[in-house]
Amino acid sequence: MSYDYDLFTIGAGSGGVRAARIAAQTGAKVAIAEEFRTGGTCVIRGCVPKKFMVYASEFRKSFKDAAGFGYSIDNVSYDHAAFIKSLGAEVERLSGIYAKNLGGAGVELLKERAEIVDAHTVKLVESGREITAQRILVAVGGTPFVPDDFEGREHVITSDDIFEIEELPKSIVIAGGGYIAVEFAHIFAGLGVETHLVYRGTPVLRGFDEEVREVVQEGLIAAGVNVHTKAKFSKVEKVDAEFRYSVTLDNGSVLNADRVVGALGRVPHTKGLGLENAGVELAPNGSIKVDEWSKTNVDSIWAVGDVTDRVNLTPVAIREGHAFADTEFGGKAHHFDHDKISTAVFTQPPVGTVGLSEEQAREEYGEIDIYKSRFKPMKNALSGDQSRVLMKIIVRASDQVVLGCHIVGPDAPEIIQAVGIAVKMNATKQDFDNTCALHPSLAEELVTMRNKFVPE
Ligand code: NDP
Repeated sequence: MSYDYDLFTIGAGSGGVRAARIAAQTGAKVAIAEEFRTGGTCVIRGCVPKKFMVYASEFRKSFKDAAGFGYSIDNVSYDHAAFIKSLGAEVERLSGIYAKNLGGAGVELLKERAEIVDAHTVKLVESGREITAQRILVAVGGTPFVPDDFEGREHVITSDDIFEIEELPKSIVIAGGGYIAVEFAHIFAGLGVETHLVYRGTPVLRGFDEEVREVVQEGLIAAGVNVHTKAKFSKVEKVDAEFRYSVTLDNGSVLNADRVVGALGRVPHTKGLGLENAGVELAPNGSIKVDEWSKTNVDSIWAVGDVTDRVNLTPVAIREGHAFADTEFGGKAHHFDHDKISTAVFTQPPVGTVGLSEEQAREEYGEIDIYKSRFKPMKNALSGDQSRVLMKIIVRASDQVVLGCHIVGPDAPEIIQAVGIAVKMNATKQDFDNTCALHPSLAEELVTMRNKFVPE
């Protein structure tokens, strides 16, 4: 049986683009369909524009800190519309590079939505064209989820919209306590916006090490975010008075805001994709079930990235896509190991973490040793910033292998990426101790913690 293509990829985001490029470089005939813009969530409305917003919002604090170093910075002004314009241009440039790289590798980019017709056929929705492929890769990612358990859901915007808003709101209410909510709370507070964070639990960042969570919540409050915990939206109304919206919480509080943002998680973008036509098995949350090779229950269909709801991070999708292409087209069978992936939360200061939290390690291994340090970074001695760094190492008592490392402090993502190598290699606490400190740095603390933490 001959097919139009060796590989048809649906979704030109991080995972899909990598898989398509690598497959095409082996000589396979590859097409990729994208209904929105090339680059996917990460480039267009996720990690990349978010990080630029973090940079933009950090300046205000830097100007304040600079006073301790002899600077006087007067008449600082900020033009949000100008920033959004520069941001948009950079995102456009990056999206273009993705498209160019696809072309360079010989991948055919089809700029329309594709849906599955059967195990070897997709249909382009706009043109109606049907295409056959020996293998189909689904890499359609996720989409923001806003529950309908409160009134006025239509007034709530999500991370999909936030990078386009040219007018800086005077005040903002953000719902959620995960990655996106805490990052945006810091971004807007840093930009001088009156910011409210509404989270149903406490502290924020469920799933992270408990101490990290406490420190991040303290950091939000110190940054001027009004943190409303154990609270949910019950009603969002458009008022168009001094503020555009009024948000009523289930504890009776009423908050006024120019913008209301929901950062309440993401769901796999599988609705209407036609997966049922090919008999692809889904989990109850709509994610595609795959094995360690990213293969679905259908022999000709694979899926990578957030749509599979394994570890929903860009570099993971890239590695899954690469492994799929190497295995299926490159004659180099391997699959991606999802253990000990470093991750960061771009709060201000940020979080960097790899491996198990204290709670997870205790549950899994029982006996563990904890090494930790909370200290004032050198810069703060002059800047007047009162925040302190948290560094924590979790060690398995039986063999001294480092199971996890958690940092909240300046440059934590940069530090944890390097520490992640050691942790992935199963370094022991002794290996950390054998490493000479680099002075003066924050990271030197990781190799100079000698005393186990003993609870009082
Ligand atoms: P998360 O899953 O991280 O957080 C969702 C938050 O919404 C949680 O605090 C959750 O509460 C709360 N929530 C869920 N449902 C409801 C509800 N019905 N009512 C009230 N609160 C609710 O999702 P995000 O949207 O923050 O981020 C999505 C994903 O994007 C992340 O999981 C991550 O994979 C990725 N991401 C990664 C980033 C990074 O690497 N730096 C940055 C941004 C996103 P509870 O805790 O109680 O469940």
